[in-house]
Amino acid sequence: MSPDAAWAETDELRVAERSNPQIKSYVRPGKAAEKGVKAMLSRDDIGRHLTSEMFFSGDRLPGFCDTIEHPDGLVLVDTGMIDTTPAIEEDGEEWHPNPLPDELVSRVAVVVNTHLHFDHCGGNRLFPGIPIHVQRRELADARTKDDYTVREWVDFPGATYVEHDGEAEILPGVKLLPAPGHTAGHQVVVVETDEGPVVLGGDVGDSFEELERGDTPGRQLVLELAAPTYLAHVAEVRVPHRRS
Ligand SMILES: [Zn+2]
Repeated sequence: MSPDAAWAETDELRVAERSNPQIKSYVRPGKAAEKGVKAMLSRDDIGRHLTSEMFFSGDRLPGFCDTIEHPDGLVLVDTGMIDTTPAIEEDGEEWHPNPLPDELVSRVAVVVNTHLHFDHCGGNRLFPGIPIHVQRRELADARTKDDYTVREWVDFPGATYVEHDGEAEILPGVKLLPAPGHTAGHQVVVVETDEGPVVLGGDVGDSFEELERGDTPGRQLVLELAAPTYLAHVAEVRVPHRRS
């Protein structure tokens, strides 16, 4: 994929809304703008939830998803895991799902998948009829590439994907930016808070060390943003710096 294509702004969201009227009840930028949402989001509106743990030869890899308490409804970034399947444990990895609490699940108005690896979309099945924002390229790869994910966790009854070709502001102050590298269709979420932007980075790097190499377009982008960044497999939040 050419970076230019990934960055091109499109009208995909509006097109998707027109062809999928259910989304309208969840995406109400106009209403939110009236309330001055940009100034209303704060760092405290961002929450982290441990949704999986993977054990492999003595190592533990935690998996987190993030929430944004937005005035227009709760945004969930990645859905973690709610169960497991023998297919993902063939190579000796042991996956422990940690489903999100029901109280939180019941309030989710909008879902974003940074990408569709199984440990990021395993809980998508909890959200039939809820818009799930993903890059078009990511969904296509998940549906067609072998050993990419658990396909039944991506496509399930009631799955309502909103596909983007590039950047999109899905709610006031909540932006999706393509950040290819980990997967070709990977995206990050940028949240505008009263303290400046915060990046929900998914797997743009498995670690800050990896991110700070800046060796993919996605990592370069996040380094340029120079904002507090959350990674899906790292507990701490940090402003990443390029290593020379
Ligand atoms: Zn991944």
